[in-house]
Amino acid sequence: MAAILSSSRERVLIVGAGFSGAVVARFLAEHAGIASLVIDERPHIAGNCHTERDEATGVMLHKYGPHIFNTDNETVWSYIRRFTEIVPYRHRVKATIDRGIFSLPVNLHTLNQFFGKRFNPAEARAFVAGLGDKSVANPSNFEEQALQLIGVDLYQAFIYGYTKKQWGCEPRELPVSTFSRLPIRFDYDDSYHRSHYSGIPRDGYTACIANILDHELIEVKLCTSFESAMSAGFQHTFYTGPLDAWFGYSHGRLSYRTVFWERIEAAGDLQGCSQMNYTQLDVPHTRIHEDKHFAPWESHERTVGLVEFSKETGPGDTPFYPKRLASDKELLESYLAMAGELSGVSFLGRLATYRYMDMHQAIAEALLEAERWVAARR
Ligand code: UDP
Repeated sequence: MAAILSSSRERVLIVGAGFSGAVVARFLAEHAGIASLVIDERPHIAGNCHTERDEATGVMLHKYGPHIFNTDNETVWSYIRRFTEIVPYRHRVKATIDRGIFSLPVNLHTLNQFFGKRFNPAEARAFVAGLGDKSVANPSNFEEQALQLIGVDLYQAFIYGYTKKQWGCEPRELPVSTFSRLPIRFDYDDSYHRSHYSGIPRDGYTACIANILDHELIEVKLCTSFESAMSAGFQHTFYTGPLDAWFGYSHGRLSYRTVFWERIEAAGDLQGCSQMNYTQLDVPHTRIHEDKHFAPWESHERTVGLVEFSKETGPGDTPFYPKRLASDKELLESYLAMAGELSGVSFLGRLATYRYMDMHQAIAEALLEAERWVAARR
């Protein structure tokens, strides 16, 4: 393999061995015979999707938080299943609040339990419409959107505290799009994602991405930080790291939240579900994920709970969630304008495009970008 790589004139550099980078590398190898060097600063592939078997318990851990693969995109679904077996899995999330335990996303069961009613779907819809804040005509932020749609009581119980803890700011500083990720259901479907396809790779995400990268034209180097001088030896760079880092933070830092965990190990079953959210402010953590429930086809005597906390991303922290505050907008635009001036580099993925993307979107966009780039060279 080294011989092919060193003699090849057609070699690209791919920064980041998560889904975006791996998918581009594979596409170029298979469809254009182009070799790539994929570098990643971490000691493992798969970026924030990385999964690892826990030595003490045998549980497959989602090392950077829960990842459920869900999509409506047939192309993406067929693509991922070339590289791994995906076991059907429906994510069901509960919320602990002072008054008890409820089902999320807010659905007919949550509504009936919360308001002590026996609504049918039409009655619930009419009731919730009545709760919405009529003074908000065109919601311009997360909070206005939430209040317009569900009113203050549901907002206070399930949304405000969680959002403030997760994002470290007032929800009115966040964009409407972040709230739009959370559906409200007027039936008893308590599946967190309603995508047609939903599942979890039987052997974890890292094995899946290892299979995508397993091609003779792809070389992977871990523990390798990107430096701009590295691009010089390559035809093109596909960059999936943070956008502001590419420019040396010259205009300032885009804001991201990062998350960290405290581990609880116990016998048996800790909480009876994969994810319990703590949606009020009196509890400091946002959620506890118990990863053995992400793999119900496995059986383990012991269990691991990961208590998740959120904080601002500082130098050295792994960025997770692009905040996209109003104050980030100007900075983002200036970096995007600078990026638009460059040739020889493509920016893709959650960090490099500074968007709150899911795995299936990252794959779809990486396939398109690789296809576009190959077509443009012909
Ligand atoms: N959210 C909330 N209460 C919850 C769960 C989510 O208010 O119990 C809000 C929160 O602002 C979050 C957004 O909905 O950022 C999207 O939630 P999602 O579960 O999609 O976040 P992820 O799984 O990506 O962390």
